[in-house]
Amino acid sequence: MTAVRVNRLSKSFSPGQRALRDITLSIEPGEMVALIGASGSGKSTLIRHIAGLSLADADAEAEVEVLGRTLQRAGRPAGDLAATRRLIGVIFQQFNLVGRLSLLTNVLIGVLGSLPAWRGHLGWFGRGQRERAMDCLCRVGMDEYAGQRASTLSGGQQQRAAIARVLLQQARVILADEPIASLDPQAARRVMEILAEINRVDGVTVLVSLHQVAYAQVYCPRTIALRDGQVAYDGDSRVLTPDFLNALYGAESETLFLPEIDTRETARSRLPSMAPAEGLRQATAG
Ligand code: ADP
Ligand code: MG
Repeated sequence: MTAVRVNRLSKSFSPGQRALRDITLSIEPGEMVALIGASGSGKSTLIRHIAGLSLADADAEAEVEVLGRTLQRAGRPAGDLAATRRLIGVIFQQFNLVGRLSLLTNVLIGVLGSLPAWRGHLGWFGRGQRERAMDCLCRVGMDEYAGQRASTLSGGQQQRAAIARVLLQQARVILADEPIASLDPQAARRVMEILAEINRVDGVTVLVSLHQVAYAQVYCPRTIALRDGQVAYDGDSRVLTPDFLNALYGAESETLFLPEIDTRETARSRLPSMAPAEGLRQATAG
């Protein structure tokens, strides 16, 4: 079973202008894959299709499968789309937290899909669930801010809470759409470290779109590069040298570079209790 399988996917937002052109790819369980490409190359559109948030053009062969379950085929959603989507955690550049709610509540919102709606609306989360949410905040180093309103926290802190939310959701596949694009380098490294840790420790499959190749090289063994809605490269991230990218993208390649990132300062040592999937194991047991 593949974690993500995309077959012959195309997407036109307007006639004759295809944002995705015949994309075929597959990602094995436990991989951490970067999706790179200049602005407008189709990264967000592809992620939205894999997340089951957008439907492809109605070509007969077009299909998206996640964890062996069809999400969409020939431009139509699968009947059990909602159930499959619960296995997929999506993280956006803009964090998507509710600013006036506490971090803890924001994380708990991640389980609304599996709670009776009225309980969610009333904010009556069970004690076990609150405890699991705290464990997840702990894993991303944000437990001490649990009671604070999301709007009072920095971008990097909010993004870590967004990751805690997909941890609580027990997502088996994480799709992160430019999660570090609006963060300073230090916060960006911390977020990438946390995603890498979840990938390594929990075996969660991660597909992360990045505007900057340097992060792909440090954190993702494999990179898929998009150009004009097509897969221009799919393979080992180590080959993504400036020359290679220049050959791939021409002048556009300049937008994909940034100065060498310094990973010595990364927060690896500061990450509290990222050890064996505590939150996940408890969540499963409870
Ligand atoms: P990226 O995330 O790599 O910057 P996008 O997936 O956002 O690229 O966009 C790919 C192409 O699709 C662009 O040409 C963009 O203008 C177009 N596009 C994306 N979303 C929409 C939309 N909702 N309506 C019309 N065009 C869109
Ligand atoms: Mg985008």
